[in-house]
Amino acid sequence: MIYLKSPSEITKIRAASQVIGELLDTLADMITPGISTWELDRFAESFIQERGGKPAFKGYKIPGLKPFPGTLCTSLNSCIVHGIPSKKAILKEGDIIGIDVGVIKAGYYGDAARTYAVGQISSEASRLMDATRTALAHGIQAAVDGARVGDISHAVGAYIASQGYYPADDLTGHGVGRQLHEDPQIPNSGKAGYGPRLEAGMTLAIEPMVNIGTNRVIEKGWEFFVADGSLSAHYEHSILVTSADAEILTKA
Ligand code: MG
Repeated sequence: MIYLKSPSEITKIRAASQVIGELLDTLADMITPGISTWELDRFAESFIQERGGKPAFKGYKIPGLKPFPGTLCTSLNSCIVHGIPSKKAILKEGDIIGIDVGVIKAGYYGDAARTYAVGQISSEASRLMDATRTALAHGIQAAVDGARVGDISHAVGAYIASQGYYPADDLTGHGVGRQLHEDPQIPNSGKAGYGPRLEAGMTLAIEPMVNIGTNRVIEKGWEFFVADGSLSAHYEHSILVTSADAEILTKA
C-alpha cells in the first residue's frame, strides 16, 4: 500500500524531517578524530528529544535480532549500513562514516543519512562520497509526479555504474511517513518506465548505498559490510513528490 499524504500529514512529516536535517548538520562539527560513535549517539538522542521527537530506529525489531540499540546507525568505512554505535568505535583520521537517523514526531516519521569525512581522507574515499551524493541528487530529480519508481532506480543506478561503482545488493529506499518503512521499495538500480506510478503527495526515502569494489554484501547481525572490504558511502533524503520538483524534507 502506497499512501498519499494529506497536507496536515505532510506538515508533520516535514517537522520530523527538519529535526533530522538540523541534527545531521550539527553532527558535522562533532565528527573529528577521537570521538566515539557512542558519544555521537548520546548527543543525537538528546538533540531529538529536546525538539519533541523520539529516535525511530532505537528498539526497531526484525526477526532473529535483538532490537536495534542505537538512535543512530553509525557505519564506518566498509560497513554499508546499520552500524551499531559503540564506545569502542573511535573515529580516526581518514575514516568515512555513514550516519543514518530516523525521527518520529507527533506520530510521523522522517529518515535521512549522510556520509562524513573524518579529518583528511583519501581522494578515493572523497570521490566515492561525491558520486553517492550525486546519485541521490539524480534520484530526487527523477521523483516527479507521473514518473515511476523504476525511473528513480534507473537514475540512481545508471549514475553509480557510470562512476565505476556498485549499489549494495538487497538494500533499498522506501516510502516513509506514517511508518518508518512503507511501500514502495526503491531499489538503487532498475529499469526506467517500470514500477509503481509516482503521485504528488507521496513521501519517499531515497538512499543510494554505494560500494567501490563489489555489489555483494556480508551480514553480521544488524551490520552490512561490503564483501571485499572496500569502502561504502550512503546518502539519504526523505522527499515529497509534488507536481513540480520534489521537496527535500530532511534539509536543515
Ligand atoms: Mg531509510
